[in-house]
Amino acid sequence: MRIVQKFGGTSVGSLERIRKTADIVQAELAHGNQVAVVVSAMSGETNRLTAMAREVSEQPAARELDALIATGEQVSAALLAMELQQRGVSAYSYSGGQAGFITDGSHERARIKNIEGNHLLAHMQSGEVPVVTGFQGVDERGNVTTLGRGGSDTSAVALAISVHANVCEIYTDVDGIYTTDPRIVPTACKIKRISYEEMLEFASLGAKVLQTRSVELAMRYDMPLHLRSSFEPVTGTMVVQEDETMERATISGVAYNRDEAKITIMGIPDQPGIAANVFGPVAEAGINVDVIVQNVSEQGYTDITFTVPCGDYQSTMNIMRSLCKQMDARDVKGDDSIAKVSVVGVGMRSHAGVAKEMFDVLANAGVNIQMITTSEIKITVVIEEKYIELAVRALHSAFGLDEEGS
Ligand code: ASP
Ligand code: MG
Repeated sequence: MRIVQKFGGTSVGSLERIRKTADIVQAELAHGNQVAVVVSAMSGETNRLTAMAREVSEQPAARELDALIATGEQVSAALLAMELQQRGVSAYSYSGGQAGFITDGSHERARIKNIEGNHLLAHMQSGEVPVVTGFQGVDERGNVTTLGRGGSDTSAVALAISVHANVCEIYTDVDGIYTTDPRIVPTACKIKRISYEEMLEFASLGAKVLQTRSVELAMRYDMPLHLRSSFEPVTGTMVVQEDETMERATISGVAYNRDEAKITIMGIPDQPGIAANVFGPVAEAGINVDVIVQNVSEQGYTDITFTVPCGDYQSTMNIMRSLCKQMDARDVKGDDSIAKVSVVGVGMRSHAGVAKEMFDVLANAGVNIQMITTSEIKITVVIEEKYIELAVRALHSAFGLDEEGS
């Protein structure tokens, strides 16, 4: 087998952790596999470097910021290569540029254009372990670029695709994706296999285990991901292409997010362009709007309600208050004690009535639904925050997730 192993910040967070990581790499080599490694910076390092830059300048030049924060991964790559060499393993560290990661020129959020040359594959075939810095590359002029926070996942998937690996293993501090948060439902089970699409839904619902882009990339090239823990030697969650067994389960998991606030702008004179007017300034402020509901207009007036992350609540309220005057709307109301709960599963495509069942379960639990939104494989409702644990527990059990994973 040919494997790309990615180790996140906590897996290389100290010299002791780096030794544990070297054990994992060595074990894979001992099985006769070819291995390349992608590392993150030691945990906390990217934040530390960014904070230092902000002390020097309020708005550091993006090119220099990238040059600075890319060093975090160089430290962990070099240390891991040294540790492996010490054990007699032929391992060499490579920066993104040395590994041939060519990106576009958008600093801090660069996209990989291609991985030049296949010298890493040749190294792997000759038994060497390339240890590559995640999160970075160089643009066509040779400037160091970075891929956005969490970007090492995307580096690892891109590398796995380019060397035609059988699997890309993502080592982190959790041992997989669970049917829901085990802190709320202790009987939550680890999901053994999940589809790329479900993983994307979970990621967008706030599961921070994988950078969303890395899942999109893996899906496009059908690269299996194995999410697993570097702290415990157990099988994790496989993220793979959808198959029939997945459809047998109605839903795969229940996700929630407390970090949401709801804003309603009421009594807007209804005419073409109002939604664009409302969301234009919000988008300009870089605020991500999630659930949106617009009422049917009554006597020429309508209401629009939407949710934003709690951190953007006050600034969005300010934008809406001034818009309210400009658009001659009646009033603006806000509520930051709401939460979102979602059921996700590809099985929804072939099972009718999942939405109704979800609404019944919440009704029986006495939970009032404020907003609803759906995709083909997800149903999300907005409810009062104080009911979130109750709702998660009720849904997890009603959809049969208490007994078995999938
Ligand atoms: N070190 C970078 C970050 O903290 C990239 C990564 O770890 O994936 O965002
Ligand atoms: Mg990460």
